[in-house]
Amino acid sequence: MNGGWRRRSDARCFASMALALLFLLPGVTWGVETPALKPGFNLFSVQQDVQLGKESAEEVERVYPLITDPRVLRYLNGLGRRLVSLAPNNNSEYIWTFKVINRSDINAFALPGGYVYLNRGAIEAAENEAQIAGVMAHESGHVVMRHGTHEASQALIAQAPLALVESILGRTGSLTAQLAAMGFGIGVDSLLLKYSRSAESQADEVGTYILYQAGYDPHALAQFFATIEKKYPQKTSQFFSDHPNPENRIRNIDSEIALLGPAKRWKTDSPEFEEVRKRLLSLPAPAGTRPAQSVLTGSPGPPPAPSSRLTRFEGNRFSIAYPDNWHVQLNEGSVALVPPGGIVNVPESGAAQAYGTSISRFQPRGSGQGNWGLIDATRELLDNLRESNPNLQVVEQRGMNLKGRSALCTLLETDSPLQGQKERDLLVTTRQGDSMLSLIFIAPKSSYDAYKQAFDAMLQSLDLK
Ligand SMILES: [Zn+2]
Repeated sequence: MNGGWRRRSDARCFASMALALLFLLPGVTWGVETPALKPGFNLFSVQQDVQLGKESAEEVERVYPLITDPRVLRYLNGLGRRLVSLAPNNNSEYIWTFKVINRSDINAFALPGGYVYLNRGAIEAAENEAQIAGVMAHESGHVVMRHGTHEASQALIAQAPLALVESILGRTGSLTAQLAAMGFGIGVDSLLLKYSRSAESQADEVGTYILYQAGYDPHALAQFFATIEKKYPQKTSQFFSDHPNPENRIRNIDSEIALLGPAKRWKTDSPEFEEVRKRLLSLPAPAGTRPAQSVLTGSPGPPPAPSSRLTRFEGNRFSIAYPDNWHVQLNEGSVALVPPGGIVNVPESGAAQAYGTSISRFQPRGSGQGNWGLIDATRELLDNLRESNPNLQVVEQRGMNLKGRSALCTLLETDSPLQGQKERDLLVTTRQGDSMLSLIFIAPKSSYDAYKQAFDAMLQSLDLK
C-alpha cells in the first residue's frame, strides 16, 4: 500500500502547472531567466534545513560505509560545486558536500542543507559525465527547493496542532531528537527522503536547468533514468522508491529543454569522469551490500516479529501504542506505523505499505452539515480506496464498541504490494467530531495471524481526545 495506504498523488498537477506557466510567461529570454521554480510551504528555516541535514548525515554515516579515495572525492566535489553555483534559489548557508557510499545498488539522495550522497553503483552505471552531473543536479534540486522539510512540514501540520509544531521548531538543541520525542521519526529512511511525484518533477526541472546552464546535454538526466531502469532493474528499487517516477517524466524534461534555449555543442563526457569511474570499478566489491532487488522480485525477507514492548505515538486528537521495533512515517494526510522493511517499492506506483498500520482522517460527504452516518462514510471511504485497489473486497463487517464509542470493523482482502500475494486488512472507523478516524491494519494474508496480537494491542491502546 502506498505511503499512507495507496496514496494518490494529486500534488502532481502542480508540477505540470508550473511548466504550463512557463509557456505563458511573456518575454522569457532563452537561457537567461531562472525557471519559475520556488520552494513550497515550509515551517523550517534554512538554518534548520542545515541542522537537520547535519544530524541526519551523521546518522547516514554511522550506517553506510563511505568511499574515502581522495581523487574520487576531489573530482565529485569540484563538479558538484560547479553545478550548484548555477542552481536557482541557492543559499550561502548550504553546506554542499558530495560523498560516495560504498554500495553497488544504484541510488543517490540529498539531505536538507546540501548533504548529497551518491552510491558507488550510481557512478558506475552512469555512461558519461553529463549523466552523473544530471543526477547530482537533480539531487541539488531537492536541496534548493527544500523538498525534505517541505514534505516534513506538510506531514507535521496534518498530524499536530500548529502551535505545538511551532514551539518545537522554535527550540534549540537537536531537532531530530525533539521531533522523535514527539513521535515524529524524521531522519534517514523516513520523512526527509520520501518525495512526492511533484517534488520529483521539480527536481527534474532544476536538474535539467542546471545541466543546460553548465553546458551539458540537458537530456542526460532523463537518459540516466531510462538507462538504469532498462539495464539494471534489479539495482534500482531503492532509487525509485526514494524518487518516485513522475508521470511523463521524459516528456516533461523534453518540453523544459525546449524552453531553456537553443541547442548548443553539449559537453557529454570528460577524461576525469572516465578515470574516476575506472578507479571505482577497480576497488574491491562492497562487502555485505545486498542488492536492493528483493522487493521487485517478490522475495523480501519478511519483517521481524512485532515487539511485545510498546511505545506511544501522539497524533492529532488521538494517541496509540505500537511495537517499539516499528517506526513512524508521516505522509501527507496520514501516519504510517511500520515494521522494518514494511514499506516496499512497486514498479510504476512507487512506495507501498505491505505491513503495519496506516491512520488517517476522512471527511465524508455532507460532513459540513454534520448529517452523516458511520456506515455510509465507511462505504464512501472504501469506494475511494478501490480507485487505487480495484481488487479490494469486504470479507466481513461488524459494529464494535471502542471505549464507549461506536466503531465499525471491516475485514478486507486485496492484492498485496508483495508480488503474487494477497493481503488482509482490518479497517476500523469511528466518528470523531466532524470527521472519521480510520485505522488500517495491514499484513499479507499468509502472515496476518502473526500480526493479529499486535494489531489487537494497538487497537486497545487507542485514545481519542
Ligand atoms: Zn529525486
